[in-house]
Amino acid sequence: MVKKNVEMPDKNGYFGEYGGQVIPPPLVDIMNDINAAYDKVVQTEDFQKELQQLYADYAGRPSPVYFAKRLTDEVGGARIYFKREDLNHTGAHKINHCIGEALLAKYMGKTKVLAETGAGQHGVALATACALVGIECEIHMGGIDIEKEHPNVTKMKILGCKLVPVSRGTRTLKDAVDSAFEEYLKDPVNFFYAIGSVVGPHPFPKIVRDFQSIVGREARAQFLEKENRLPDVLVACVGGGSNAIGLFTAFLDDESVRMIGVEPAGKGLDTGEHAATLTLGSKGAIHGFECYNLQDKAGNPLPVYSIASGLDYPGVGPQHCYLKDIKRVEYETIDDVECLDAFMQMSRLEGIIPALESAHAIAHAMKIAKDMSADETILVNLSGRGDKDADFVADYLSL
Ligand SMILES: *Cc1c(COP(=O)(O)O)cnc(C)c1O
Repeated sequence: MVKKNVEMPDKNGYFGEYGGQVIPPPLVDIMNDINAAYDKVVQTEDFQKELQQLYADYAGRPSPVYFAKRLTDEVGGARIYFKREDLNHTGAHKINHCIGEALLAKYMGKTKVLAETGAGQHGVALATACALVGIECEIHMGGIDIEKEHPNVTKMKILGCKLVPVSRGTRTLKDAVDSAFEEYLKDPVNFFYAIGSVVGPHPFPKIVRDFQSIVGREARAQFLEKENRLPDVLVACVGGGSNAIGLFTAFLDDESVRMIGVEPAGKGLDTGEHAATLTLGSKGAIHGFECYNLQDKAGNPLPVYSIASGLDYPGVGPQHCYLKDIKRVEYETIDDVECLDAFMQMSRLEGIIPALESAHAIAHAMKIAKDMSADETILVNLSGRGDKDADFVADYLSL
């Protein structure tokens, strides 16, 4: 049988031909130290006890699995369920890996945790986890994003992290990555670069996946308990891919369970304004690892767009690339219009305002549910709540 579960990646950090460490040799040593420390620490009783306790008492785990009756009745067909990651402290799945990374940094004796942020979601979750664990945190953010994302900027300041505005280049995420990385290189032995999804050089795609896999482990047990069987289909949105792999991992060996990752088609796949990396990308390297990429002929990342800022990344997690190639997971797209429609239907039929990222997954579930029977079930990862998007959507739809 093809290897597709948590035994991956191989010892060099590859999932098939994807992943690895496309970084300068001194950093390879640093990453290998992190990998060794992770493999050792994560298995200790102390670490697991502390992590599981924080998941339960601080983040609010387990998050429930919820049957969306009114949405199901409206759509007709398969029954739609949600894994409620929107109910976690800070409102999304990101807290799962941020607590894990901050705790790992502390166990490794690191002095400072560093990261970049785009819309500020990773920044807020990481600043939260660092405040919790008691470790210094520094977040780099482009000047344009700072102007656009006022509430998240305020939260990061209140949470006590050092926010570094980046005024070079386009003053957006790409420049924030360069800036944060330069700071990291000043002292990579004592600093910890906390990556915000299942991307970056080995071991980060593995570490972030492992911390997120709690989502699928809980969901599998909860669904069995409720329904006495497994869901027929899993659906999750894919930016870098952490919430999707978090849900999928526990089900990879369940051959009856179909899995679908949903990418943003933005304004349309033929407009160039999308972030459908697995759907339209080609193989290449970005940010220290190999994966499908949206890139030009010279191998430079193309500009990407999504109405959901958490999905606009020109690369994608290496395990997703592998799962696509071996056809274990299907990858589909949803455009802005379909996303907004799902956002509004979910809000008005269920009283749950979803994150625009998650609304991509909801839209796809609604699309396929129609053609399925009422004894079939779809479990959607509701990766986050939409408080952050409410003003934007209200303006956009002139509500
Ligand atoms: C960041 C974010 C995403 C996208 O990240 P993945 O790594 O692909 O999961 C999805 N949903 C929400 C709510 C987010 O904040």
